[in-house]
Amino acid sequence: RHVLVTGGTGFIGGALCTEMLAQGYELTILSRQPADQVRKLCGQVNVVHTLESLRGHEGFDGVINLAGEGLADKRWTKQRKKVLRKSRIKLTHTLTDVIRSWARLPNVLVSGSAVGFYGNQKNALVTEETMPHDEFSHRLCKDWENAALALGSENVRVCLSRTGVVAGPDGGFLKSMVLPFKLGLGGRMGSGHQYMPWVHRTDVVAALVWMLETPEASGPYNVVSPNPATNREFTQCLASTLGRPALFPVPAPVLRLALGEMSHLLLTGQQAIPARLTDAGFSFRYPELGPALEESIH
Ligand code: NDP
Repeated sequence: RHVLVTGGTGFIGGALCTEMLAQGYELTILSRQPADQVRKLCGQVNVVHTLESLRGHEGFDGVINLAGEGLADKRWTKQRKKVLRKSRIKLTHTLTDVIRSWARLPNVLVSGSAVGFYGNQKNALVTEETMPHDEFSHRLCKDWENAALALGSENVRVCLSRTGVVAGPDGGFLKSMVLPFKLGLGGRMGSGHQYMPWVHRTDVVAALVWMLETPEASGPYNVVSPNPATNREFTQCLASTLGRPALFPVPAPVLRLALGEMSHLLLTGQQAIPARLTDAGFSFRYPELGPALEESIH
């Protein structure tokens, strides 16, 4: 079982590689980083630096596609939006084009997406059936998904991971949230009523492997915990996990001023539930926020 992974060096990808190697998979990672650095992050894997080097390859059994520039790393200027789109959509177009050149097509492509697909849904309960709102995050995710779905016409099973806000040790969004809380300066963002469809990284990894291995799985899956929390609930849980107060709310206008349109990531959200995963009998290791944060922080 040989799987090609893009984004394998990332916060999710690194944990995914560790788990898949432990399960006996052979992995090839697409990375811009030197091979020895990739192996430090991912373990004993093969490394390629360009997709083009895989044109005409004999083929892989499956492909997992997670690559993309960090959404929360820089302000969403016009230029940055282009980079965010290109590093996902163009890369995925190239990926499917290269896959078509293989001697043997893979059984499955598991490709990234995010709950941002739905746009700001306020308090609505969001399943995979929910009609999205048209905004930047929706267009980004929709075009990214469509680039992957193009391979469906070749009889390759395509699964889409509409991932929520991922909590886990040593990285992700929690990394930047923990310090202000440790200093006693943490608090909710804006009104705190917006939903944060959080999910523990262990469950993201398990869901990706499940999509890879389950012949009946296809289409979009909300990869979020069954218990989405509001920002206020999340903040309170984080504060109590750290044994610190949550006294300092950050007002919405301050976030808008500091982050521009990127403040949408913090001030809007989705009460997303993993309807299709739950229907399929997938069970979560961390369904509750308290233990998920405890594991991520301590
Ligand atoms: P990271 O930022 O930790 O990792 C991103 C990965 O993408 C890296 O391995 C990097 O590989 C690769 N990458 C970045 N930019 C480029 C580029 N321009 N060209 C090629 N490869 C690139 O991301 P996460 O692990 O947190 O997330 C993985 C995916 O899931 C992302 O696309 C993200 O948007 C999505 N997601 C993440 C969520 C989260 O909370 N973490 C929530 C919802 C969706 P290298 O440097 O080795 O080349």
